[in-house]
Amino acid sequence: MCNTMDVHAKKVVTLVYGCQMSERDAETLTVISSEQGYERSGNLEDADLIIINTCCVRESAENKILGKIGELKKIKEKNPRLKIAVSGCMVQQPGVLQHLQKKAPHVDIWTGTHNIHHFAEQLVKAQAGEKVAEIWAEPDARMELPLAEKGKIKANVNIMFGCDNYCTYCIVPHVRGRERSRRPEEIMEEIRDLVANGCREVTLLGQNVNSYGREFASGYDFADLLGEVDRIPGLYRVRFITSHPKDLSDKLVLTIAAGKHLCEHIHLPVQAGSNDVLKRMNRKYTREYYLDRVEFIRRVLPECSLTTDIIVGFPGETKADFEQTLDMVRQVHYSQAFTFMYSKRSGTPAAIMPTQIPLDVKKRRLQQLMGVQNAESLAWRQKMLGKTWEVLVEGPSKTNPERMTGRTRGNELIVFAAEESCVGSLVQVRALEAHSWTIFGELV
Ligand code: SAH
Ligand code: SF4
Repeated sequence: MCNTMDVHAKKVVTLVYGCQMSERDAETLTVISSEQGYERSGNLEDADLIIINTCCVRESAENKILGKIGELKKIKEKNPRLKIAVSGCMVQQPGVLQHLQKKAPHVDIWTGTHNIHHFAEQLVKAQAGEKVAEIWAEPDARMELPLAEKGKIKANVNIMFGCDNYCTYCIVPHVRGRERSRRPEEIMEEIRDLVANGCREVTLLGQNVNSYGREFASGYDFADLLGEVDRIPGLYRVRFITSHPKDLSDKLVLTIAAGKHLCEHIHLPVQAGSNDVLKRMNRKYTREYYLDRVEFIRRVLPECSLTTDIIVGFPGETKADFEQTLDMVRQVHYSQAFTFMYSKRSGTPAAIMPTQIPLDVKKRRLQQLMGVQNAESLAWRQKMLGKTWEVLVEGPSKTNPERMTGRTRGNELIVFAAEESCVGSLVQVRALEAHSWTIFGELV
């Protein structure tokens, strides 16, 4: 008689919502599941495990995620061996777990942001038929050792966790905990290991990278770390997000200018252009200070691309306040802006501020802002035409698979004809045609 061995390889599908930190956590969860024998897949119908790493920064993200979790119920009815794990910021919010459990009893694992390294044990329990819900109120530093997938050209590397800034609209400090920096030696080791496995570009991640190392007695800061990472042999490019304007030092800008692999791109969220609004947001800088930082960057790094985040319709935002935001966008010449309507987050001070702005006003302001920024983005790309840019080739274009895509040091997406053997290398591409989000070019 032959053995009835189960030859079905277990499959995991990972869905991610939100920022790069969320992506990074999802990567760690996926690596843990692969150590438990799950192979990565893109097919929900055929999955044994679906991981949803969530975001709660805006209500729209939460609604989308709840909709997705709801859809999975039908898939689970057809495929009873499927286990569903929901992790991350949405689950970590104080007091929401019970509500989520009631809404989605088909979920097997609920897990927060501070205990992702317990995922292996949680999986074992879920496989044995147990329902798991584990949310730690506090992070444990020993747990914060991110696991990386091998063989990728580009990788995200956490340099710090949490946030101490408490912008009045933002839920992040409530779900990510107090700010804490990883030791430089640990970060360097992780990057060297990534490079040994084929990685050519790293993005250093933190909610406010400019305050990296604040708790170190040595005075070692983010610019020092960047300088060290720049010298790692085999690494072509170094990026970082996010820079809080209040902590952006001259030393950092000068370090980028002196660096070889440090990309000339700074994501510098302004949030609003009016001093009144900035004050109520608790951003701790003024419009004038921000513009002064921009002026310094432009002087030291003339080709530096600046991108930003902007919120419209913050409580009490007047028409005149909003005009100042538009004016800011016209003055700075951002290459790209992520624009959002203010979303009430329960437990944050702005949620109970008087004069909440009606949805139709927020929508109108968002449209107007996007119009102004789209023109700026196109003008930025048009200025790049005719010049040759260093591009790290990432792979075939999704929309045009005969062509390759890559990014310039300024993080512009560029599409061009090249052999597949170029993937992972630096090439020179002349920019020929600018579209809203992409540039078409040719190899030089
Ligand atoms: N740490 C980063 C951003 C984290 S959240 C920083 O300080 O820049 C990403 C962006 O989401 C923020 O920059 C902000 O523009 C937006 N955001 C955060 N909370 C929001 C809210 N309640 N409503 C709308 N947008 C919000
Ligand atoms: Fe949120 Fe402000 Fe911290 Fe960014 S700096 S994560 S916007 S509290």
